[in-house]
Amino acid sequence: MEFAARVGSVQPSVTLAITAKAKAMKADGVDVCSFTAGEPDFDTPIHIREAAKQALDQGKTRYGPAAGEPKLREAIAARLQQDDDLCYGPENIIVTNGGKHSLFNLMLAMIQEGDEVIIPAPYWVSYPEMVKLAGGTPVIVPTDTSTGLRITPEALQQAITPRTKLFVLNSPANPTGMVYTPEEIRALAKVVDDHDIWVVSDEIYSKILYDGATHLSIGAVSPAAFSRTIISSGFAKAYAMTGWRIGFLAGPAELIKTAATIQGHSTSNVCTFAQYGAIAACEGPQDCVQEMVSAFAERRRFLLDAIASIPGLSCPTPNGAFYSFLNISKTGLTSLEFCDQLLEEQQVAVIPGGAFGADDHVRISYATDLATLKTGFDRIAAFVASR
Ligand code: PLP
Repeated sequence: MEFAARVGSVQPSVTLAITAKAKAMKADGVDVCSFTAGEPDFDTPIHIREAAKQALDQGKTRYGPAAGEPKLREAIAARLQQDDDLCYGPENIIVTNGGKHSLFNLMLAMIQEGDEVIIPAPYWVSYPEMVKLAGGTPVIVPTDTSTGLRITPEALQQAITPRTKLFVLNSPANPTGMVYTPEEIRALAKVVDDHDIWVVSDEIYSKILYDGATHLSIGAVSPAAFSRTIISSGFAKAYAMTGWRIGFLAGPAELIKTAATIQGHSTSNVCTFAQYGAIAACEGPQDCVQEMVSAFAERRRFLLDAIASIPGLSCPTPNGAFYSFLNISKTGLTSLEFCDQLLEEQQVAVIPGGAFGADDHVRISYATDLATLKTGFDRIAAFVASR
């Protein structure tokens, strides 16, 4: 079969592929320590599950508006106001099938052939592929540890051309766990404003922060920044709702309307009763989020100590999300070699940094229990020592 040219250069998701391989080994009875999935290991909080069950019993089982249940759009707008100082109404919100889908809708709505989209590396695997699928050109801007794996205002400015349409900002970041400081966000907002480009701020990890790190949404910097910002986020990470598939996009009403038209011809509305669970997530108690973050914090402490104790490995201190991005350059292996050999020899699964635009790194997700982390790090230490 001849496939459309647009899929020719698109790579399959390495994250999903390695996660699937580790799961298959586990199913075959192999004792695998898997640090691959970007997925909290907690159950969805009970009040959220109960709200969805109740909605199911109340017959919320039919098609709904493509842009989402009006009550959920309002509840999301209220949370963005309360948590992030962002002033949106329900007309500025579209509910999507996860944060991935919200970004995909955005790219389809906004990007066309000739448009450039600036993406700092290391980046979340799907950003460049989504830009390509929409017909645009990803412009990858490398970063290094001298700037904490974060793009500087100068580097952003240098990457801007007359074709630049959009800048993708992700803080806290996947795969690095890096969090931009409020000062850095303000400086980036100034560049966006000076050059009259759009910024999509992927804030899916904004509630998962450590050691006093704070999250400032670029849209909250100033009215000028707000007018150039689109927020992409979702419920998966903060509320342990990965399988529910609920995300959202917040931005100018005309963009939301266009995204809703796209959604109306593709997926239609997100599962109706699941949206009632999301309403409970927005409106219910928020301590469940802090409880999960406290558990992640304990694992992060263990992980940072474990990494520091292994000669040949290093990582910049992650202040958000649940990832650490290990520098493996001293092993002399490419990230794919490292991951393949580690899985074969020690049955530990991690994700090659090459998938995120950084081939001398691997990503470890610590959204897993402490016992698995301890066993896994003993094995990683043995693997690195044998190189
Ligand atoms: N953005 C980032 C940076 C992510 O890491 C993920 C998931 O791993 C998503 C968006 C999409 O999340 P979901 O589609 O599960 O809501």
